[in-house]
Amino acid sequence: MKTPRATHYRITALDPHAHLFEVRCTIAEPDRDGQRFRLPTWIPGSYLIREFARHFVTVRAESGNAAIPIEKEAKDLWHAASCAGPLTVIAEVYAFDLSVRAAYLDAARGYFNGPSVFLCPEGRAEAPCVVEIIAPKGPAYQRWRVATTLPRADAAPWGFGSYRAANYDELIDHPVEMADFSQASFEAGGATHDIAISGHVHADLDRVARDLARICQWQIDFFGDAPGSRAPFDRYVFQIAAVGDGYGGLEHRSSTSLICKRDDLPAPGIAKITDEYRRFLGLASHEYFHGWNVKRIKPAAFAPYDLGRENYTRQLWAFEGITSYYDDLALVRSGVIEPRSFLELVGRTLTDVLRTPGRHVQSVADSSFDAWIKFYRRDENAPNAVVSYYAKGSLIALALDLTLRIRGTSLDTVMRTLWRLHGRTGIGVPEDGIEKIATEAAGADLDAFFARFVRGTEDPPLADLLGRFGVTTHLRAARNDRDRGGKAGSGGIDAESSRCWLGASLAVGANATLQHVFSGGPAEHAGLAAGDVIVAIDGLRAVPDAIERLLRRRRAGEALTVHAFRRDELIVTEITLGNAPHDVCWLSLDATVDDETRSRRAAWLGTNTGGGATF
Ligand code: ZN
Repeated sequence: MKTPRATHYRITALDPHAHLFEVRCTIAEPDRDGQRFRLPTWIPGSYLIREFARHFVTVRAESGNAAIPIEKEAKDLWHAASCAGPLTVIAEVYAFDLSVRAAYLDAARGYFNGPSVFLCPEGRAEAPCVVEIIAPKGPAYQRWRVATTLPRADAAPWGFGSYRAANYDELIDHPVEMADFSQASFEAGGATHDIAISGHVHADLDRVARDLARICQWQIDFFGDAPGSRAPFDRYVFQIAAVGDGYGGLEHRSSTSLICKRDDLPAPGIAKITDEYRRFLGLASHEYFHGWNVKRIKPAAFAPYDLGRENYTRQLWAFEGITSYYDDLALVRSGVIEPRSFLELVGRTLTDVLRTPGRHVQSVADSSFDAWIKFYRRDENAPNAVVSYYAKGSLIALALDLTLRIRGTSLDTVMRTLWRLHGRTGIGVPEDGIEKIATEAAGADLDAFFARFVRGTEDPPLADLLGRFGVTTHLRAARNDRDRGGKAGSGGIDAESSRCWLGASLAVGANATLQHVFSGGPAEHAGLAAGDVIVAIDGLRAVPDAIERLLRRRRAGEALTVHAFRRDELIVTEITLGNAPHDVCWLSLDATVDDETRSRRAAWLGTNTGGGATF
């Protein structure tokens, strides 16, 4: 078979003020009866049909200097008329999405993900690609550089110019950031790791590099099964957009795009790990772990991806949940945080899941399958109907790890087996693959575990399991609406447990707007709905602070008159206050444990840490 000729792309930051990229795609020998071009409808890692074509403002085609007719045949499909070639399709793409999933361009930075800008010529997905990246015109952009893990062709390091990819799949898995960014770098596993941060930051980047180096090296050793192992890539880039308010990340085969608050990054001269910095490190750790778990070990349903439609799998609980378990575990095992800090994060996740009545309605397997229409399209009823395959998935991963450890093995072993059988080989993981590997590792039938907690809606027995590792689980009532759990809390359990409950959460804002109304709670019984604005309770004006004070002074069982607006209609109803549920969880390390428990706990959380030594 002859090697297909390369597809040439040229992407120009055409007009930062209009947020427009011009994207050209040229093929030397178009199909004889005309050439079709298709754009992905979604981006791997984010399971929602996003219809990237909606941001294609204009599309035209030319051959030499002659215009070639081009017609849309479907929402994501164009058909250029027959010509001798070469054929170029030219699109103007609107780019003003401040997320890690599409494209963005203004005078401060440019960014794009391949699926949202690069058309794929039909029948040529396997052809090698060359892409030329062109800077915006003008002196304002002279300091802009390019951060991407696309292999360089004639571009200088960090430079505009030509890059290449072996095929379309590779082309679209290396997002590109262009800006006058801040930089740091470190080595781990024989690979250079670069950090490029766009946006105004005043942070200790050397410290970020030092902490990330420990986390990355731990993960490389984890999958390599020995210290000094090599990373599965030669270079890795953390592309970070630091903004006033934002949070998110997306994994790629040798890079990740992150959005964080600029204040999440550590201030110079301060050694403490703040909650915000810990969250940033957890996010970076999460996306890095995906470099193995989902980018290389992937569900059979993603091997290969079909970018024109939903790709269904019931395994996102594993690819996201197991990753969510190890992202924070990597922080403690690498010694970046202490065991108590890790347990605080587990306590928060437990709180989050306990507050979700939907966990008794939807299994994580079903949540994975329906991610496209439910988890990624959460609405006001989501807590009652949807469970997060991230949060509950990470608790199932924890339960599975502890169950396996009691049997003398661990989830670590399962992950390394997955890496050997599926990551290194590129063979997709069948839907029952993880259960089979775990069963083999355990040397026991785990059908009941998977049937109850993965395919069913039961809570895994974490309090019992954690108890066998010298960790006690505590439950209490929420201190207030912002109480996320993880900490013991103050003010005394009795005082807290007397706080009563509306059975609804309030949206952030000056008005008492109901954000979620929980199944079977007082607000639902009173006929209140999400979106209702409570204006008075018992004849007194109700704003969020006043409601919080009222919940502390009144008792469960008391009936109050509520005035609320639903749209422009006034509702008058009676609500009977409930007891605040004890759904806030925190964990503590047992001070005295027997030797067996101590060594089990040390093996789980690591002993080579400052915190570990205090066990
Ligand atoms: Zn993830």
